[in-house]
Amino acid sequence: VTSRWVALDVGETLIDETRIWSTWADVLGIPRLTLMAALGAEVVLDNGHTSSFGLAGAPDWRTHFEEVEEVYGGFKEEDLYPDALPAVQALCTAGYRVAILANQPARRTAELRALGFEPDVMAMSDEMGAHKPDPAFFARTLELLGSPDPGTVAYVGDRVDNDVLPSLAMGMHPVWIRRGPWGVIQTLPEDARSGTMVVASLTELVERIDELWG
Ligand SMILES: [Mg+2]
Repeated sequence: VTSRWVALDVGETLIDETRIWSTWADVLGIPRLTLMAALGAEVVLDNGHTSSFGLAGAPDWRTHFEEVEEVYGGFKEEDLYPDALPAVQALCTAGYRVAILANQPARRTAELRALGFEPDVMAMSDEMGAHKPDPAFFARTLELLGSPDPGTVAYVGDRVDNDVLPSLAMGMHPVWIRRGPWGVIQTLPEDARSGTMVVASLTELVERIDELWG
């Protein structure tokens, strides 16, 4: 019936990132609360999330990347928001074409497949050669979907800066999911309000998705 697409972000949209931030804190020897508070401060200041490591006292965080990855061990079932898999399955059942396209290392694609995600299209930024909020990421997204009219594509994410505004600028329908640090702290600019659907969960997204094209 429909050739409409729902493309989803990963971090704080499908995956609760509490465990990876906790892993970073533990490896860097920073109390978890301190690192997470620093992240919140950087979100308020519109700085990149990596500045929180410096703010919390670990400017050399980059040298710990592989150690963190080893301790973290990739996405696990416990990291999933409980509504993530059911929502993706419900969207597929409802006839939507579903994509998962996000700023993540390439290895996350296989990890998400292992957790049971079987979207029509899935790729991470490190495989796509472009990262949000670069418009090139959203142009590449459209290519991977087979170049549909952007107005037939919803992009679902937790960040106003990385997800909502650049997908809106590309002519897609942004859906802002208000969970995670960015989802609760950021605010939607006045001129983006009428074009953005705001939801509290992916369950609400499934219930209201038809409104986008009503
Ligand atoms: Mg995200």
